[in-house]
Amino acid sequence: MPLSGRAILITGASSGIGRGLCSEYVGAGARVYATGRNEVALAETIADLPEGSAVGIPADITTEAGRRAIATAIDHGGGTLDVVVHAAGLLGPPGVPLAAYPEEEWRSVFEVNVTSVHLLHQLLVTYLDSSTAPVVIGLSSTVGRQGRAGWGMYAVSKHALEGWLATLAHEFRGKVFSINPGGTRTPMRAVAVPGEDPATLPTASDIAPIFLRLAHSSAPEPTGALFDARDWIGSHPWEGLESP
Ligand code: NAP
Repeated sequence: MPLSGRAILITGASSGIGRGLCSEYVGAGARVYATGRNEVALAETIADLPEGSAVGIPADITTEAGRRAIATAIDHGGGTLDVVVHAAGLLGPPGVPLAAYPEEEWRSVFEVNVTSVHLLHQLLVTYLDSSTAPVVIGLSSTVGRQGRAGWGMYAVSKHALEGWLATLAHEFRGKVFSINPGGTRTPMRAVAVPGEDPATLPTASDIAPIFLRLAHSSAPEPTGALFDARDWIGSHPWEGLESP
């Protein structure tokens, strides 16, 4: 299995892209730590996976207790972590211009999309250090790479996330990647673009190939690189890679 021996933490695993990636990574042989706040939804993610392939960690990443719960679970799992996929995200109120954007939402979207990613990483570095080929993947957005009216703090936070990833790429011993999933069939997308027919959108599984590839220990892509997941739909994730 291409990812056998790799331990992968996926935030936002209780819904959407994070949930879909859990089964993709487990299907490729990885051991998965899956986290999210909603315990029922997280349990559904885990129930869909083969027994023993994933550990569910109910946790709010905006709290220190939540981040510590994630670290404790990794400790219990042997203390090694090879890949972190920061898929947790908050949209905030859609269609609100910056001039009218409410302060509370401004702060909470930044807290989830940027500050928690940073603070969680600080806690996880020690585990990633035990990996021979550690990887950090951030989930960006089209509106994190170019401005667009009405996307508010979501767009601002994804620009900030890109800055965080670009900085980390120059500091981290392993590799750091930004992936823009592109419009994907998830609950967040349904709120962000109401009226859109979900059937016209790729699923989390459709966009998985680049996520799978970059988690592999011998992926040749350079640290700091930016990807659009849609460019990789239908591609073979392991093409040109060595066996683990
Ligand atoms: P989603 O279905 O709304 O899932 C978001 C996930 O984030 C949920 O599992 C949620 O879990 C988790 N989360 C939110 N706040 C949290 C907190 N405080 N602590 C822990 N977990 C928290 O969204 P999605 O569409 O899959 O999006 C996944 C990522 O892709 C996001 O970063 C998003 O910005 C990005 N993205 C998505 C699209 C798209 O079209 N879908 C496009 C571009 C980028 P709980 O509610 O259980 O906590």
